[in-house]
Order: sequence, then C-alpha cells, then structure tokens
Amino acid sequence: MVTGVQALGNIRVFCRCRPLSKQEISAGFGQVVDFDAANDGDLGILTGASTKTTFKFDRVYTPKNNQVDVFGDALPLVTSVLDGYNVCIFAYGQTGTGKTFIMEGTEQNRGVNYRTLEQFFQIAKERRDSFIYNISVSVLEVYNEQIRDLLSTSPTSKRLEIKQSAEGFHHVPGIVEARVDNIKEVWDVLQIGSNSRAVGSNNVNEHSSRSHCERLAKTDAQGERLKEAQNIKKSLSALGDVIYALATKSSHIPYRNSKLTHLLQDSLGGDSKTLMFVQISPSEMDLRETLSSLNFATRVR
Ligand code: ADP
Repeated sequence: MVTGVQALGNIRVFCRCRPLSKQEISAGFGQVVDFDAANDGDLGILTGASTKTTFKFDRVYTPKNNQVDVFGDALPLVTSVLDGYNVCIFAYGQTGTGKTFIMEGTEQNRGVNYRTLEQFFQIAKERRDSFIYNISVSVLEVYNEQIRDLLSTSPTSKRLEIKQSAEGFHHVPGIVEARVDNIKEVWDVLQIGSNSRAVGSNNVNEHSSRSHCERLAKTDAQGERLKEAQNIKKSLSALGDVIYALATKSSHIPYRNSKLTHLLQDSLGGDSKTLMFVQISPSEMDLRETLSSLNFATRVR
C-alpha cells in the first residue's frame, strides 16, 4: 500500500529515522523500517509479518545519513531568507526521535539552527554588496499556550503577546533579540535558550514521563501533566489544520487557533517556505507512534 499525495503547496517534508539506541539493541528490539527506496523518497514501514506500508516524502534519511547530508538539502531554503523570503524549518515527532538532535545538534554534530547561522555569516562575508547584515537571535517556547522568552535574564518572566505591526508582520514585542556577530556567539546563545526550556532535552526521567503523558490514554496523566499534554495536542492539531488548509488552498486559514500557528503565521503563509522534518524511531516498540507521525506528515504534504 502506498500512502501519500503529491506535494500541494510550498511545504516540503523530509523524514529522518534515528539509529536504534544501544539500549534498544541490547533489549533485542527489531526494526520496522525499510529503507530500500529511500533515495526515491519512499519509506517502508513493516506493519505486520507480510504487510508493508510505504510513505512518500521529499527526502528520506536513513540512520547512515549525517547532519551535513541533511543540511545540504535544507541549504537552498535557508539561503532564500537572504532573498527576502520568510522560512520556517521545524521538526515533528515522538519524544526521543531526534528533534533536538536535528535542530540543535551536539558540539560534535551541530544541527540545522547552528549551520543556518553559520551560512548567513559566510554569505554576508562573501557578498561584497552595499547591504549591512544585522543578525540577531530570539529563542522562545510556547508552553501551555503561553509564550516564554528563553533568553530573558529577568527573574520574573513577563507575559509576552503576539502583535501585528502596522506593516502587517507578526512579532512579539519585548522579546530579547540577541545580536550575534560570529558563530561562537550563536552557539552560546542557542545553549542559553536550550537550557531554559521548561523541559530539558537532556533530562531522561523528564523525557520518559513526558512521552507517557503525551499519550492521553495512559491514565497517569493528571493535573499539570494533563494540561500540558492537552496543550501540546491542541497546538499540533492546529498546526496540522493550518498546513492542510494552506496546502489545499482553503479560503480560511485558521492561524488563530493556537499560539504556535498565530506566531508562525508569516512563516507558514503567503510566499514563505516551510520545511518539516518528521522524525521517527526504527524500533518495533515505537511502531504505533511512528505510524501516527507519518500519517500526520502525509496529511500536510
Ligand atoms: P527529541 O528531541 O525528539 O526528544 P533527541 O534529539 O533528544 O530527541 O534524540 C534522542 C537521542 O537519540 C539522543 O541521544 C540523540 O543524540 C540520539 N539521536 C537522535 N537522532 C540521531 C541520529 N540521527 N544519529 C545519532 N543519534 C541520534
């Protein structure tokens, strides 16, 4: 069975599968992903002993692909920022599938955010035109439908809102915009942002409890956790609705249904360019979540 439709709008979807972890290998977990046609953008998922579902993407990355391969494909999109386009690049997927890895990366394997800024500095240096390039970075988190400034050093975080400027652009007045003049400063700023997240990406316990509570059916989701899970679900379904409405050229695009989509309005609509990385696990234990992510990604493509 082949699932997937022709790309309808200006949304590209790249799918990346992480390697099996050491723990998964030692636990003897099998792999459900078939990369035979990865070069053609096809990803096979073994859904049973003799059943395979194939999903179609603009690119498919196997665990053998590295950060350089991925960034090479994102590069044309990234450089179009300097031609005046709004570009939105984001990662979607189950906890532990490599969203932080692909966007932030590690010191040895830097991710898309860092490489993007590195590219901007390089181009600004090479272009001997009359423009002056001012590059600044803001890092924010939408948590429980509230915007948090992750670069703010103020102990009392002020309430940030999305406003529309007279020119029609959406922005967040009062958010810290850290001016960066070289790539070392970029890494430092991105690290500060990453360390201020409500849920640290390196906290394993936090990770596993979150991944449980994201499945609402599990009964241990209570109070704050339940609220968090509901809000994540709300912003993701709102994002799916917006991307779907854009792709099908609907007359009404429901940006206002969540803070996330309201915030990204200028980067998702109009003649802006969007790239979504759908991140998956190869493990048979994650099959249900993997299929759910792939179905979501297929819907928006
Ligand atoms: P998420 O942000 O989606 O919760 P992470 O980025 O924290 O997931 O990834 C979980 C773990 O898997 C991390 O230890 C990360 O380094 C590793 N990992 C993810 N993707 C890859 C990859 N493509 N190659 C090697 N390691 C990866």
